[in-house]
Amino acid sequence: MSNSSSNAVSLSSVRLASEPLFKFVALLAGVFLLAGISLVYLAQDLDRTEQEKNAFYVRKAVQSLEKSLAVTVQDYAFWGDAYRHLHAEVDIDWAYINQNIGPTLYDDFGFQGLFVVDDQNRTVYSVIDGKQRSEEASDWLRQPIAGIADAARAGAEAQTSVTRYINIDGAPAVIAAAAITPGTDPTVTPDNRAHSVLIFVDVLEPKKLAALGTDFGVAQLRVASHGQHSADSLVTLADDGGTLQWTPAQPGWRLLAGGLPLIGLAALLVVLMTWVILRRTTVAAQALDASIASLKRSQAALATSEARFRDVAEASSDWIWEIDAALRFTYLSERFQGVTGLSSDTWLGANIDDLLTTELGLLSQWLSIPNRRPEISVQCRYLDARGQARITRLSARTLRDGGVRGTATDVTEEVEARRRIEFLSQHDALTGLPNRTRLQAFLDGKLKAQPTVEQPLVMLCLDLDRFKPVNDLLGHAAGDRVLNEVSSRLADCVRHADLVARVGGDEFVLIVTDVSSQEEVETLCRRLIASIEMPIAIEDQEVFISASIGIAMAPHDACEATALLRYADIALYEAKSGGRNTWRFYAGDMNARIIERRRLESDLRQAIKNGELELHFQPRYRIADGQMVGAEALVRWQHPQRGQIAPDVFVPIAEESGLILALSNWVLEQACRNAANWPVQLFVSVNLSPSEFKRGNLIERIQHVLSASNIAPARLELEITEGVMLDDAAGALEIMRTLKRLGVRIALDDFGTGYSSLSYLRAFPFDGLKIDRSFLSRLDQSDSNNESDQAIIQAIVGLGRALSLTVTAEGVETADHLKLLQAVACDEGQGYYLSRPLGSDAFRALSAIAGGVDA
Ligand code: C2E
Ligand code: CA
Ligand code: CA
Repeated sequence: MSNSSSNAVSLSSVRLASEPLFKFVALLAGVFLLAGISLVYLAQDLDRTEQEKNAFYVRKAVQSLEKSLAVTVQDYAFWGDAYRHLHAEVDIDWAYINQNIGPTLYDDFGFQGLFVVDDQNRTVYSVIDGKQRSEEASDWLRQPIAGIADAARAGAEAQTSVTRYINIDGAPAVIAAAAITPGTDPTVTPDNRAHSVLIFVDVLEPKKLAALGTDFGVAQLRVASHGQHSADSLVTLADDGGTLQWTPAQPGWRLLAGGLPLIGLAALLVVLMTWVILRRTTVAAQALDASIASLKRSQAALATSEARFRDVAEASSDWIWEIDAALRFTYLSERFQGVTGLSSDTWLGANIDDLLTTELGLLSQWLSIPNRRPEISVQCRYLDARGQARITRLSARTLRDGGVRGTATDVTEEVEARRRIEFLSQHDALTGLPNRTRLQAFLDGKLKAQPTVEQPLVMLCLDLDRFKPVNDLLGHAAGDRVLNEVSSRLADCVRHADLVARVGGDEFVLIVTDVSSQEEVETLCRRLIASIEMPIAIEDQEVFISASIGIAMAPHDACEATALLRYADIALYEAKSGGRNTWRFYAGDMNARIIERRRLESDLRQAIKNGELELHFQPRYRIADGQMVGAEALVRWQHPQRGQIAPDVFVPIAEESGLILALSNWVLEQACRNAANWPVQLFVSVNLSPSEFKRGNLIERIQHVLSASNIAPARLELEITEGVMLDDAAGALEIMRTLKRLGVRIALDDFGTGYSSLSYLRAFPFDGLKIDRSFLSRLDQSDSNNESDQAIIQAIVGLGRALSLTVTAEGVETADHLKLLQAVACDEGQGYYLSRPLGSDAFRALSAIAGGVDA
């Protein structure tokens, strides 16, 4: 601020200083003007004086000329000889030849005219320009001479001459005339006649005039020419002698000519100097103005930048700090308090290391790194006012005095967000369990530690059985809750050091390291399955889930992560094939089995084309009267090398490979074609895969086989499992309704093995249900609760009746089974005890007799 005011003062002083300068210049101009005027006046005066002086001298000159002429003429006129030789008689010889009064007067005195007139004023002797002529004086003089002659005679007594100024053809001339007298000569006796008169004429020719002027210090004396008359430089001669003129010396003008330029030059110099000074001053002032303006601008810019800095400092979460060479805070910006909650007053003077710590060590160590690049920042930690750890990024710039200045950006949220992103990238968003990425890293780490046979690494691949139906039936929210519940149960079963990762929808991988023997692993698996099998409460329902587990161990099976994962997966597949809800250790031959499965798949493709499939029919009987009511078509595969293969083996392969449609079409066609040859009261029951509901145009296929076989639609029953409805309940319902409109019957197969079957029965248009054979087979087990199973069968039968469904019991293997079914009034039965599945011919033969069954 002090700078700016001093500059402002200097500016105004310059401005004030230029004002007197102008006054001074004006004064100078006045002085110069006055000097000029005085000079002119002086010059004029000088000239005037000179003029007067000249005029005086001109007169003087003319007078002296006149006087000398007068004197000369007297000398010659008052002379006895002249009287004798020019008056008494005119003696030319005496006068001219002897040069007494002759050419010498012209030669010596320059008198152009010399005349002698007698008493009668007749010219008796005349010499013109030094030559004797006989010219009349009055002719030459262009005027009568009587006057001057008489005047001269009048002065005879007193011996005086007269002079006259005349003009001869424009040239002034002086005439001097004197009467010729004997003078003082006593020898001459005057006569009575009037005096003769001697006349001298001095014509003032230009040359003579100029010479005369020069003698008297007057330049270029001449006869004034007409029209050029300047009153100052004229002298008028008496009589009609004319006017003389000369060129005045004009010392005044000389003075002016010399002085004025000098004054002008001086003035010019002064003006120039003033101009230079003014210019310099102006330039200096302008420069000063400019520098002041730029100073003001830079001050404004500084103010703006200060304001900006303040705004930035206040608006951002950054705070600014400064420490001295001893690492003590010397400055903390206002935001410090706002961001940290800490008091600046408390921290000013404190050591920076007391506030901030880095992961690498003391902050002061980082600050003292030689040539530390200023743009590199360091992440620091500190405790805020509430004692919570905050993370801040520090940038620092070393100051000249050894201190450091920098900013501190709070990055706590950023770091946390990054940590969160890192967590999310490594963890499953839904369950919070580690994901495949984390699993991979964990596994790599564990395998690097080189597990041993004594301390193996155990990998469990766990897949939930029948999770998808839950998801579809109860909604994804329920499915998510089931997954979360399962996740936490799984995590509870292992130690903290172990890992439970979710690697797919309902697939988990567990890495366990504290189990050594196969027994211990099996105990763990049992625990896991038991834990998962515990009912999961979703709203007011209880959901039952189970799991299959595949196990691979390092170093026993493999020592590489990918190999372990593959083997555990193969073992899982085996476990699922082995009836689910169980576990399998990876065995070397499992791989071979999978390869075999692939081969089977390609074989099946050929089998459908080559007619290796065969359809068997298992009769179904009405329990009440033992009448055969129909038969279930069961597919068989007569493999050329392997012999007969059960549908439990190849149907899943067909389903997985997409061969199921071809297979099913063949079955439907064969079943209906056979049924067409049966007694009309018998129906044929065909199993459908859930996938057939999703893919392929089931309705058209059914219409096609019905029209192709030409059997009554009511004679075709379709057996579907609840999986159909779990996959896509709405779609299934739609298809089932259309099927019903076609007139075919629909039965729910394997009832009781699923979850919440009862709700389907009400919602879907079933004609019948088939109780899974596991209910009857359980009756045979000694440890089972016979009565409760019997009650369940009875309840199902009651339910079927209530819903007008035909209830069929499967797996009637004994007479007891049949008795029980009769007791609970089950509608129909099917089983080995009644009849095994028969070849088409055998069944046709049996159906032809259509015999009853003994109870
Ligand atoms: P499912 O629909 O439950 O068929 C009944 C199965 O129980 C048949 O086995 C039959 O042979 C067997 N069975 C009948 N009575 C008894 C008995 O008293 N005791 C015992 N233990 N079993 C009895 P199969 O023929 O091996 O068929 C197995 C499964 O293969 C069937 O179960 C069915 O789900 C499927 N399947 C069979 N044929 C076809 C078919 O053409 N299409 C489709 N999609 N699946 C089929
Ligand atoms: Ca069936
Ligand atoms: Ca069945």
